[in-house]
Amino acid sequence: MSKIIVVGGGAAGMMAAIAAAEKKHHVVLMEKNEKLGKKVYITGKGRCNVTNACGREEFFSHIVTNPKFLYSAFDGFSNWDLYASLEEWGLPLKTERGQRVFPKSDKSSDVIKTLQRRLERLGVEILLHTKVEKLLCENLPDGTRICKGVAANGKSCCADGVIIATGGLSYPQTGSDGDGYRFAKEQGHHVTPLYPSLVGFRCQEEVPARLQGISLKNVSVRVDALDEQGNTAGNKPEYSGFGEMLFTHFGVSGPLMLTASALLASHMNGKKRLTIDLKPALSREQLDRRLLKDFEEHRQKSFKAAVGGILPVRLLDEVILASGISPEKRVSEISKKERINFIEQLKGFPLTITGLLGYNEAVVTKGGVAVSEINPKTMESKLVSRLFFAGEVLDLDAFTGGFNLQIAWSTGHAAGSHIQE
Ligand SMILES: Cc1cc2nc3c(=O)[nH]c(=O)nc-3n(C[C@H](O)[C@H](O)[C@H](O)COP(=O)(O)OP(=O)(O)OC[C@H]3O[C@@H](n4cnc5c(N)ncnc54)[C@H](O)[C@@H]3O)c2cc1C
Repeated sequence: MSKIIVVGGGAAGMMAAIAAAEKKHHVVLMEKNEKLGKKVYITGKGRCNVTNACGREEFFSHIVTNPKFLYSAFDGFSNWDLYASLEEWGLPLKTERGQRVFPKSDKSSDVIKTLQRRLERLGVEILLHTKVEKLLCENLPDGTRICKGVAANGKSCCADGVIIATGGLSYPQTGSDGDGYRFAKEQGHHVTPLYPSLVGFRCQEEVPARLQGISLKNVSVRVDALDEQGNTAGNKPEYSGFGEMLFTHFGVSGPLMLTASALLASHMNGKKRLTIDLKPALSREQLDRRLLKDFEEHRQKSFKAAVGGILPVRLLDEVILASGISPEKRVSEISKKERINFIEQLKGFPLTITGLLGYNEAVVTKGGVAVSEINPKTMESKLVSRLFFAGEVLDLDAFTGGFNLQIAWSTGHAAGSHIQE
């Protein structure tokens, strides 16, 4: 029986410890917090979107960074394996819109309880309040470097294998504050540049703050880089997409903008133009016909009253303001040019993005331990034998929908089940 130390009691660490214990190893799970799974607890707004029940191809289309590295770990422990395991361990699941899988109870705490029960049943030694400070590695006479344990709470702890599952940098109050990157670097690993991802954008204008709380379903957006003169550079947008977005006190967020952040996080140098098509289903011509019809029906009314149904009231106020038309102007006095200005605002409402929010708000960290230095089947370091990495500490990230947790489950399971083979 080998002794295995797992560092970090989050999603990846708990799964790694379970997989290693199932292989009959003596497993010690070290977590610096007072309890396991503090981040899992806040996932999915407290409901924990554990995985996504889509097919394999679709699954990988949602992995933003290094999908190919994940093939082997995913095939070894897929979304369906996770689904079956959680149910077998006593947690009934349900699948919602977008194939998102949640516990039937809608409680993330039930996910943690289920994993903890499994850990205890398998005899995993759980050490809470245990902060790992350092890896204990040494060079063997044949030139290979080997991991022999960790230093935690000022004491040395020997092991035949160590799995680092310390998470990334996002929501550091949950315990993930970047120790794993330091451990990796100290052992000669490269850590790719780190960025907050799946996070909202800051905007220069005050408009989003005035519209705070308004959510827009079915809008199209495009994001273009701006040059120093404030002009859009090139014709090809850096991002374009369709879906739901939200105005916030700092700028814009919501599913569509979180997806944009995952693709733009690594090149946020300089300002960007966000253009929102508020009426993507209607062409300019169709909108013009609709306006003319509204004008015809309400000839004696003010402009604002005549076009009242077209947008939520507070948003309409902003679009009218941006179009330069007085809201009280009689419809019969609106010129064609004014009508066209208004349509231009509806089809391309502009905002200026100045940056992303930080790690305190980011759902995940983009970047991490370079996967070229990790064996994709086993998660073992190619530089230090008996040292393994799993979860967000690796340079892997995905869109929202249960995919990031599945990265943690799959890589955690790969590390735990291959350690000391
Ligand atoms: C608000 C929010 C909502 C989210 N919702 C979802 C969702 O619904 N679905 C989804 O798929 N993903 C979601 N995610 C992302 C998901 O939570 C992460 O991808 C996942 O938790 C990463 O797992 P991990 O085990 O690698 O890291 P973590 O869960 O961060 O666990 C790392 C653990 O290591 C411990 N640790 C760190 N350093 C040390 C040390 N030196 N010694 C001992 N212990 C240490 C930490 O205390 C922590 O418990 C969400 C993230 C956030 C922030």
